[in-house]
Order: sequence, then C-alpha cells, then structure tokens
Amino acid sequence: MSSSPPAGDALACPSCARAYRADERFCDDCGMPLVARGDGPAEEARTDAQQRARKIRPEFSHGDLVQVAGGRNLMEAELIQNLLIEEGVPSVLRRSAGFDVPDFLASGPRDVLVAESGLEAARDMLGATDLGSRRAAPPAALGGHRLILRLVAGIVIALLLAAIVARAIMGVAA
Ligand SMILES: [Zn+2]
Repeated sequence: MSSSPPAGDALACPSCARAYRADERFCDDCGMPLVARGDGPAEEARTDAQQRARKIRPEFSHGDLVQVAGGRNLMEAELIQNLLIEEGVPSVLRRSAGFDVPDFLASGPRDVLVAESGLEAARDMLGATDLGSRRAAPPAALGGHRLILRLVAGIVIALLLAAIVARAIMGVAA
C-alpha cells in the first residue's frame, strides 16, 4: 500500500481492499459492493454507484453473504437495496434459484443478500417496511442432515425473537 494506485482505481472492496476501476460495481472475490477509495478526483467521482458506496458503513460489510429478502423482479429488489443502503447496509442482488436462465434475465425474482454483520440492521430495516417478510426463501441445499436442519431452525427462531424484541424496544422508544 506504499505506492499510490493507478488513476483508474477509484473504488475498493470494503471486505478485501482489492482496488477496482470506477465502472466496476462489485468485488469479484467477495461480491461486496465497492466503495470509493477517497483518493480519486472528487468531482468526477459523483456517480450513483459511488454516492451509494459512500453511505456504506464498513461494520455492515463483514462476513458471508446471507439472504435477507427477495424482490419479485429487479426493480423491487433494487428498491430494497436502496432502502438498505440508506441505513448503511451494502447488499448484493442475485437471481433467485430456478430463475437463473436467459428467459428470466430481465424479469424474474431476485434475492437480496447482505453480509452477516449487516443482517440484523437489514432485518430491522426491512421489518419496519414489511419487505423482509414478503418472501422467506428456504435455505438452499441443506442435504438431508437433520442436525443441520435443527441448527438452522434454532438460528432462525433466535433471529426472529431478536427481531421481535428489537421492534418492541424501538416501539417503546418511539
Ligand atoms: Zn473483495
């Protein structure tokens, strides 16, 4: 990190710090939305992607990607993504399983994924708008292992309880 980066590398991955050009949007390795490096020409850096990247709170971009919500189409998924970024939570859109064929490239449902560290904030945010509960996709490819299923069920219940408690607290505060 001692030498200054090439002028074109205006963005960086918030997770692995790899540098990207300004027209890239996501890290090839992590899938995280890229953020501005802060050393590029400030005036020219005001693209939509970079304005959004500036809102990202780094503490919400750690860990594996997990699905937090789904949109029935790209527009709806991007709406959710924009809501999340207002809270500083970066997210990634992915075609929902079973719809990742060319016929559905433009339409078709999208999964909205966030990093694990941003999941709780995302859930709170989406819970307030009812977007998060619209389509709860089952965890994919669990195999037949009952122990794993039980663990997942326990985690889901714990998260739901946490969300309920969080909302109750926020309700009291508001
Ligand atoms: Zn990365």
